[in-house]
Amino acid sequence: MQTLRASKCGLSTAQLPSSILDVIDALTKAGYEAYIVGGGVRDLILGLNPKDFDAVTNATPAQVKEVFGRRCRIIGRRFELAHVYAGRELIEVATFRAPPKKAVTSASGMILRDNNWGTIEQDFARRDFSINAMYYQPRKGIVLDFCHAIDDIKNKTLRLLGDPTLRFEEDPVRMLRTLRFAAKLNFSIAPEILEIFTPEMTQLLRDISPHRLYDESQKLFTMGHLNRVLPMLIDFDIWRQLFADISPDISTFIERAAINTDQRIQIGKTINPAFFYAVLLWKPFLERCNFYLSKGVVPAEARAQAGLDVLKRQATRTIIPRFAETFIREVWEMQTRLLNPKPQQIQALSTHARFRAGFDFLLLREKSGDDTTQGMGVWWDAYQQMTTDEKERAISQYNRQRAKSRRKTATEDVVETKLVAAEIEPLVNEPEPRSRRERKSRTKPERPVQSASSNGSEIGYDHPILKRKRVKRDLSQVVFGPTQ
Ligand code: ATP
Ligand code: MG
Repeated sequence: MQTLRASKCGLSTAQLPSSILDVIDALTKAGYEAYIVGGGVRDLILGLNPKDFDAVTNATPAQVKEVFGRRCRIIGRRFELAHVYAGRELIEVATFRAPPKKAVTSASGMILRDNNWGTIEQDFARRDFSINAMYYQPRKGIVLDFCHAIDDIKNKTLRLLGDPTLRFEEDPVRMLRTLRFAAKLNFSIAPEILEIFTPEMTQLLRDISPHRLYDESQKLFTMGHLNRVLPMLIDFDIWRQLFADISPDISTFIERAAINTDQRIQIGKTINPAFFYAVLLWKPFLERCNFYLSKGVVPAEARAQAGLDVLKRQATRTIIPRFAETFIREVWEMQTRLLNPKPQQIQALSTHARFRAGFDFLLLREKSGDDTTQGMGVWWDAYQQMTTDEKERAISQYNRQRAKSRRKTATEDVVETKLVAAEIEPLVNEPEPRSRRERKSRTKPERPVQSASSNGSEIGYDHPILKRKRVKRDLSQVVFGPTQ
């Protein structure tokens, strides 16, 4: 172990937010050891802007709770941690961990519980990469480096601590972390990792819960180097493990969306990771639509069913939260509305909660050479820049063109135009709830329920007891990145 002078590593307390200093100071004052560890230290040394700061201490989570009282919450089962609220920020405070006991690892060597407290040396050995295992004590102005991690930083090398095979077996998510850090930091992966990073090894990801894989996929999408990591996911055979039905091929559309996502992050704009899922799953969605259309299903029904099918298949790998699934289906449904809007609905469409995301998606398709958009991406782009008068003129012109092309087709369309209201119907219907309990509470009884009481009085359809508890979410209130 070598003790480095923090200033020599380019570190100073001036770079640290008061929240992390508060936590370190409070733990030190209570007589515990406390360090900043992980990505925060790594990124500061590299001159990058850390996403967050994690603390580590010899205090157990219960002792951390004693120090911070109501500002602290203990979370996690597999990996117990203390969350400390400092001002508006949240700092994760972990306790030094020793190697897990045999009884809590699976047959394949995966760690199922990891709450065995230990010393700083043991904690160091449990971390993933050397560059993530530097312990910074800002008040003492020192960095503890147990493995010459500082050299790996200088040489831009990603090196796993310990035996790479064992480390991947213990936690297969480290394979995703390898690619994420290599892409984010533009580091090379150490040869001993490359040697064992085989398609067979990636099969271990099948044992990881789709919830955890979704979280990891989000980190990949939002780290700011999505475009760099995508080909790596294919080269290392991780793609197949993450995405059920998306062929491992980076289309111009996917590439453009990835570049766009990275650019948004670079300029500090918010992004919605579900948007990128909508992009990835667009082709499987269209294929599924065509399947239903070929069976004679009407288009609206085909789209609705195709959307549900594609998301259901994807959920076998990464479980996309329900609200994000709804967002994705709405973005897809918006494509139909934006492509062929009814003139009376143009204004209402342009103020719809999902307009921005739908439009971004349409324009991306168009710019990637998808001519099925018929130039409507550019049309909507221009429309948004217009004054009210110009908008009215543009709508009339659009209406005339539309009527002209429609005159050639059937008369049924005329009837349709007459009936159209300016309001927009919901883009998608909420699918079946996932849990059995929710599903149960959703089903309405067919017949009035007989009261169990002896007087035989009946409970009517509209009795409050039978009313659905489920509150319909107002999606216009949900703030999504691309809509801002
Ligand atoms: P960033 O926050 O920039 O994504 P990070 O390195 O801080 O990167 P976190 O997921 O915040 O990553 O984890 C904090 C630290 O915890 C890591 O730096 C690493 O030392 C340790 N760690 C996290 N996940 C694992 C893992 N799966 N196996 C071993 N150590 C891990
Ligand atoms: Mg971190």
